[in-house]
Amino acid sequence: MLDQNQNANTLLSSDVVSDEASILWDRFLSLIKQNISELKYNTWFKPIKVKSFSDNKLLLSVPSSDFFDIIINRFGDYVYRALSSIHNEKLSLEYVVEPLLQNYVDVSFCNSVPYVSPASNPEEITTFTKPAFIPTIHLNPEYTFENFVKGKNNDFAVAAALSISNRPGAQYNPLMIYGGVGLGKTHLVQAIANNLLLALPNTRMMYISGPEFTTGFVQSIRSNKAHEFERFYKSLDILIVDDVQFLEGKESTQDSFFQIFNQLYQLKKQIILSCDKPPHQLEGLEERLITRFQWGLTVDIQPPDLETRIAILNKKCDQEEFSVSYSVLEFIALNIKDNIRSLEGCLKSIVFESEISRQPISVDLAKRSIIKFGTTKSRSPNIDISSIISIISKFFEIDESLIRLRTKRQEVVVARQVAMYFSKEITSCSLQTIGAHFGGRSHATVIHACKCVEGMVNDNLSFSKKIEKLREDLLTS
Ligand code: ADP
Ligand code: MG
Repeated sequence: MLDQNQNANTLLSSDVVSDEASILWDRFLSLIKQNISELKYNTWFKPIKVKSFSDNKLLLSVPSSDFFDIIINRFGDYVYRALSSIHNEKLSLEYVVEPLLQNYVDVSFCNSVPYVSPASNPEEITTFTKPAFIPTIHLNPEYTFENFVKGKNNDFAVAAALSISNRPGAQYNPLMIYGGVGLGKTHLVQAIANNLLLALPNTRMMYISGPEFTTGFVQSIRSNKAHEFERFYKSLDILIVDDVQFLEGKESTQDSFFQIFNQLYQLKKQIILSCDKPPHQLEGLEERLITRFQWGLTVDIQPPDLETRIAILNKKCDQEEFSVSYSVLEFIALNIKDNIRSLEGCLKSIVFESEISRQPISVDLAKRSIIKFGTTKSRSPNIDISSIISIISKFFEIDESLIRLRTKRQEVVVARQVAMYFSKEITSCSLQTIGAHFGGRSHATVIHACKCVEGMVNDNLSFSKKIEKLREDLLTS
């Protein structure tokens, strides 16, 4: 992403968008429009503006860095591949953040909510909607309870979240939800926020992530507004801080947060927190804060079991109106276990791949897509060392027997090392067993071979591409 100030000139000079850029972008939008829901389209694509297109470089502007993160994480692959499919040459994409325009919210975020719900006093509205230290955060309107699949892995967290969204401040305060990356913490805390905004539109609520809270605090100090910053947060009815682990090591931010926490807690205002680990494992966080985080209710979210993963995939298919067979969903769920974001990403990638290539969605297509989601550890059940040697010998056009024996010709050595490397990665054989398949070599030789391959992958782009291609061949064999 480009830095906003650095690129002020680029932006000024490219304010008049070339025809070519607009045409490319319009074609892209119509392709995307066919593939995603209207809500998603309006929320995430309409706000993107095309700035310029030259030397196969497309410059896009997004309204905030949060928005940029979402576009990259959720739709990055889509955007890139959709553009590649309508533009024949290799494209590079660059994003620049351009701050929110005044009328931006009502046009593009028709269904999303401003970061602070309106206060009853008009004077307060001005004070609270535009202070310099408040970041522009929007809730994702799709993060609702209806869209959240309940399973054994998250049932306590869901029960607590529902209970709070019905009676904030009454029972569990603070609510601390913790769990690994991509397991639904943000979805769940935003579901509480979305629910509360509907039920209690005049509640003064703030949803903010740990890093944004920190940035806001630092900026408020710089602009001599630390006092207002704290006063704003202390005046809320509901405060949601997502990813509090980011306060680790930030002493003055923690201090300010401590004051805010105490005030809200004493006034029985609801505090909701999420964290990527159990609070007692937070390092670099003051003990007094950790203790407070545990005053209320602490619930965890665990990785979902197979059934829940399939249910989540089913839910996403309903939401996006994808029609995908059970066997494909099961295949994805069997291969992606620890991260729901990847589960979702993989499903979308398969659907998209099928649309772009005009092939039906099949397990075969899924196999090819799934590799991108880092599932190389999900072992291909049929592949053994001999098959690996056979595939690699064909790939390098070297006789199998040479790979198995002790020939020291450079190209044979490399192919043999690659075969050892993949045998270790893909099969569950011991290093001794692997060595035995290559002319009785020791386990140390296998380790050495793996290190050599890793070194070449890091140093040599074309070699690294070969390895990627081979991995794909091996895992889909
Ligand atoms: P975290 O904040 O824990 O890293 P997120 O809340 O961002 O995870 O979740 C990642 C993605 O997975 C989101 O798109 C979210 O909608 C989806 N997700 C997570 N858990 C569930 C669930 N139980 N049901 C449906 N979708 C889920
Ligand atoms: Mg999150």
